[in-house]
Amino acid sequence: MRKHCDFLVIGSGIAGLSYALKVANHGKVLMITKSNESESNTKYAQGGIAAVWVKSDSFEKHIQDTLVAGDGLCNEEVVRMVVSESTERVEELIEWGTKFDKTPTGEYDLAKEGGHSEHRILHYKDITGYEIERALLAQVHSHPNIEILDHHFAVDIITQHHLGAEVNSQTPDIQCYGCYVLDTKTGSMLTVLAKSTLLATGGAGAVYATTTNPIIATGDGIAMAYRARAG
Ligand SMILES: Cc1cc2nc3c(=O)[nH]c(=O)nc-3n(C[C@H](O)[C@H](O)[C@H](O)COP(=O)(O)OP(=O)(O)OC[C@H]3O[C@@H](n4cnc5c(N)ncnc54)[C@H](O)[C@@H]3O)c2cc1C
Repeated sequence: MRKHCDFLVIGSGIAGLSYALKVANHGKVLMITKSNESESNTKYAQGGIAAVWVKSDSFEKHIQDTLVAGDGLCNEEVVRMVVSESTERVEELIEWGTKFDKTPTGEYDLAKEGGHSEHRILHYKDITGYEIERALLAQVHSHPNIEILDHHFAVDIITQHHLGAEVNSQTPDIQCYGCYVLDTKTGSMLTVLAKSTLLATGGAGAVYATTTNPIIATGDGIAMAYRARAG
C-alpha cells in the first residue's frame, strides 16, 4: 500500500507531536508510531521541565549551570539554543493545554533540581511527561490535517538508493522521499511518500541492560539515518 503526505513525522513523543502541530497548518501530516500512540520516553518523564521563568533568573545563568553540570560534554552552541528558547517553548506547551502546578497565590510552583542554581522546574505533580503527552495528543486528535497511525514501525528511509542509484557517504544531495513502514498488527508493508520527513524517534536508552527508558527507546531513527548516509 502507498500513502502520500506533505509531512511525515516518525515518533509521537514531545518532539514529534509538537512538530506536527506546528506544520499542520501548512499541509497534510501523517504521524506514525511503533507502539500505542502515547508510548514514549516523554510519557515517563517525571520531575519537570526547566525554563527561565522568574526575573531573578536569566538565560546566561541557566546556560552556565548546564555547562557546569555537563562537565565538558556539552555542545555549547546547542545548549545556548535550547536554553534561550526554553521560556517560549514552555509557553507553547501551556497554550496547547498542558497544566503545570501552581502555588496557592497562582504562580507556577517552580522546583529546584540538582545542578540548577535557581528555581526553574515547571512540573505537574510527579507525572509531568504524562501530562504533556496527554495535552499534545489531544491537540493532534483535534487537528483536521493530522492523521496518526499507531503500531506502525518505520523500517527505512527512502532515498535515491531505493531507485537504483548508488548512494554512499560521499554522495552529494541525498534526498529523502519518505519511509518504508511495517504495520505490526497486520504484517503488511506501507510505502509513505512525503515532501518532508522528520525523525523524532527519541533515544537509545533501551540498548542498555539497566535503564529507566521504555522498550521503544532502541535508537531506530539514529540507525535509519546512519543507513541512509544522512549527513
Ligand atoms: C523515567 C524518565 C524520566 C524522565 N524525566 C525527565 C524530566 O523530569 N525532565 C526532562 O526534561 N526529561 C526527562 N526525561 C527525558 C525525556 O523524557 C526525554 O528527553 C524526552 O521525552 C524525549 O522526547 P522525544 O520526543 O525526543 O522522544 P520519545 O518521547 O522517546 O518519543 C519517541 C517516539 O518515537 C517512536 N519510535 C521509535 N522508534 C520508532 C520506529 N522505528 N518507528 C515508529 N516510531 C518509532 C516511539 O514509539 C515514541 O513514540 C525522562 C525520561 C525517562 C525515561
